[in-house]
Amino acid sequence: MAGGEGTRAVVLGGSMAGLLAARVLSERFTEVLLVDRDRLTGVTTYRPGVPHGRHAHGLVARGHQILEEHFPGLTQNLVSVGVRPGDFNGDIRWLFNGRRIAPSHSGLGCVPATRPVLENQVRLRVQAIPNVRFVEGHDVLGLETSANRTRVTGARVQRHDGSAPPETLHADLVLDTTGRGSRTPLWLEELGYGRPEEERIKIDLAYTTRHYRLRTDPFGGDLAIIPAATPKTPRGAFFFPISGGEGLVELSLTGILGDHPPTDPDGFLDFARSLPIPDIYQSIKDAEPLDDPVTFKYPASVRRHYERLTDFPGGLLVMGDAVCTFNPVYAQGMTVSALGSLVLRRHLDQGGEPDAKAFFKDLSREIDSPWELAAGSDLGYPGVQGKRSAKVRFVNAYVARLQDAAVNDPALANAFIRVAGLIDSPASLMLPRHVVRVLRASRRSSAPATPADLQESRR
Ligand SMILES: Cc1cc2nc3c(=O)[nH]c(=O)nc-3n(C[C@H](O)[C@H](O)[C@H](O)COP(=O)(O)OP(=O)(O)OC[C@H]3O[C@@H](n4cnc5c(N)ncnc54)[C@H](O)[C@@H]3O)c2cc1C
Repeated sequence: MAGGEGTRAVVLGGSMAGLLAARVLSERFTEVLLVDRDRLTGVTTYRPGVPHGRHAHGLVARGHQILEEHFPGLTQNLVSVGVRPGDFNGDIRWLFNGRRIAPSHSGLGCVPATRPVLENQVRLRVQAIPNVRFVEGHDVLGLETSANRTRVTGARVQRHDGSAPPETLHADLVLDTTGRGSRTPLWLEELGYGRPEEERIKIDLAYTTRHYRLRTDPFGGDLAIIPAATPKTPRGAFFFPISGGEGLVELSLTGILGDHPPTDPDGFLDFARSLPIPDIYQSIKDAEPLDDPVTFKYPASVRRHYERLTDFPGGLLVMGDAVCTFNPVYAQGMTVSALGSLVLRRHLDQGGEPDAKAFFKDLSREIDSPWELAAGSDLGYPGVQGKRSAKVRFVNAYVARLQDAAVNDPALANAFIRVAGLIDSPASLMLPRHVVRVLRASRRSSAPATPADLQESRR
């Protein structure tokens, strides 16, 4: 790659991270090839390479902003296929321990689409970029390198149906976005480099999802009902209307530490009944199920520390879930992929080939906050193994109080939603103006009830 204008980039994996990477690489490379084992173009439903795509996928506020920046008008594209956009706080019913945090206008957008609908709209925009070519239905077999193995020079691929012999796609830059099953650690080892250190938080989580046609409307204008999983109420759900017809909804139930939502219809219903709010069970118990419940098991969050490797071949980068996967209940993965695409753009903008070490350092900085948020929150569950520093214990106790206080305090609710939306850093919750409100609310809730309180509670 000379003077910042490369000839060909090859992106391995055509899911969210791969699509966003291709968008950015197309600004600098004459040609970008996007390889995936699945058929991609024209696919509007679930595909085998993304089995998690059958389950609720919320795009948090920062991800929405970046996607709109990469693809101006994407929100309108989604609206045109029936997605109803709204406000990330005011229009979503966020509940913690069974209580809704105060809804108010956050000014942050959200587009509650199913994963296949969102991915398809993003893919259509990438397909429209003239120098991006999809190499669909091809398995990635491995990397090609220079004779001395200091440089990756391409990727070996083969038709998924085995109908043709393997071929090499030569590249000036190869970017691995093949997700959590990425084989880059293994390939690096085979090439004589080290594997990246891996950090794992075992959570033994599962999502079980079913679609319904409702006979009643529990949403009352809201875009989604989300009783979030917390250490006090570890069973959670994502429940929202989907495009395609009146009353259609997607319901994903989530359970951690082996408490998995069942796939048999009665067990699924019982799990919904056990949620801390009755609304979801009440609306599905007499609804028309449209499919059988399907489950996805997620054993552990995994962070691969590429930034700690001292030696790395030229011509290769890694992004998306291949670097870090988060407990999905915090809905961060797609947005962290989007943040990664901005890091990639910054490095390409410097001209010449991105320096892998500098790239991974910057990517790691973007991952720090969401990882801290997700891994730290998971350590709030007594059954999750891991070291609980004093800071983690303090933050978890404080955030639980903040969520309680946010039930009656729109300013705190917005502050929390901005952090969950990856707009502000978790440290922002510690700003004095928020701490004061949390302490005041805690004092009020632990104060003895006044006659006025007692009167209120009898109403
Ligand atoms: C149950 C669940 C729910 C989630 N919910 C949310 C959410 O609410 N919000 C959110 O932001 N994120 C969520 N995520 C995370 C999100 O799905 C990912 O972060 C996001 O898809 C980015 O992943 P990726 O593109 O890096 O990899 P993936 O989506 O895993 O895609 C990898 C791609 O590589 C291809 N591939 C893999 N190996 C090969 C090979 N050898 N040859 C050819 N092709 C290959 C696959 O076909 C696939 O297309 C959730 C994840 C799970 C598991």
